Amino acid sequence: MVDEPAIREKARDAIRSGKIPSRAQRRTFGRPGSGDICSICAEPLRRDQLELEIDFQRPGAAPEVHHLHPRCLAAWGLERTKLTEDSEGHRSI
Ligand SMILES: [Zn+2]
Repeated sequence: MVDEPAIREKARDAIRSGKIPSRAQRRTFGRPGSGDICSICAEPLRRDQLELEIDFQRPGAAPEVHHLHPRCLAAWGLERTKLTEDSEGHRSI
């Protein structure tokens, strides 16, 4: 079991490395785990777990889709907000 600070770290790494976008997703779906690998923690989404599927619109291409655990989606949401604020200089005054 990975604790929350470690998840947040993985979320940050995934955003920085471009594995997952830092912008808001277009849609979120919840469903039972399908065995896909989570884009944040790289652990499988088991059938007894909730799987959250998010997608991002890409101009002229099929949507980019990611599958995440609820805790990983929460960590990504927090970290992408922080990173976006840092890089755009908001709250820097
Ligand atoms: Zn995960």
